[in-house]
Amino acid sequence: GAPLLLSVRAVLLSNDGAVVIGEDRSADLRFSQTRRDFVANISHELKTPIGAIGLLAEAAEAATDDPEAVKHFLKKLIAEADRLNELVSQIIALSRLQAADSSTDARTVVVADVIAAAVSRTREQAEAAGISVSSSVQPGLTLHGDAEQLETALTNLVQNAIAYSERGARVAVSGQETVGEVELRVSDTGIGISDADQKRIFERFYRVDADRSRASGGTGLGLSIVKHIASAHGGDVSVWSRPGQGSTFTLRLPVQSAAGDPADREEVPR
Ligand code: ADP
Repeated sequence: GAPLLLSVRAVLLSNDGAVVIGEDRSADLRFSQTRRDFVANISHELKTPIGAIGLLAEAAEAATDDPEAVKHFLKKLIAEADRLNELVSQIIALSRLQAADSSTDARTVVVADVIAAAVSRTREQAEAAGISVSSSVQPGLTLHGDAEQLETALTNLVQNAIAYSERGARVAVSGQETVGEVELRVSDTGIGISDADQKRIFERFYRVDADRSRASGGTGLGLSIVKHIASAHGGDVSVWSRPGQGSTFTLRLPVQSAAGDPADREEVPR
């Protein structure tokens, strides 16, 4: 995390983005370009809430003789500060995942616990949106992986399913085993995603509708985090969707992850 944040500061302080990659001399050019794009995107994404916070603070200052107006601006300012906080947390989460896939803390994970955690973490959001989340899981299902990361990935998918559905809709979460793999599936009957957008939604900061994403507290990083977590486990994430009908996201994870530590591998023989 730290080197990335230093790089961000360099970009923000200099006129020339190229300065950033000073520590990268040994890396290949493509990697540097990807990273430069990421840093440029981050700067852009951070500017939106920071700009809004500045404007709202000025509006509040100018409205001192109207306590109701001050309250209104401060409320919006707090919401923007929350957004900024969420964005920075997700940027840090993603940069950690990118920096060290090796830090995956692999153990035997009970799939039912991962699902229960994701459902519980999204309960408030679901209640506020009037959406019911149901779950089903094959009994006794386990896999080898990092429980915390898997909970994060599944939570992101459930958050999206809720955010991109209409009030009264249902979201279904399931876990089942196929040949040597665990499938975690999140289905919604929401707005759906066009074929063209399905190809891009796993990119960092890509959003089909930036206003809707922002309104639901989205950062555009959720799915790229899911993708990183899936590949750190030797698995993948895919989407099926039809506009107007809904979407199903499937996380496929090998039961026996490559990232495991030898001690744990003995416990769960292949
Ligand atoms: P965000 O924070 O904007 O939700 P994500 O990376 O999680 O960012 O998702 C990227 C984009 O993919 C979203 O902005 C949205 O347009 C689309 N998307 C993700 N999940 C769904 C879903 N379940 N239904 C419809 N669109 C979705």
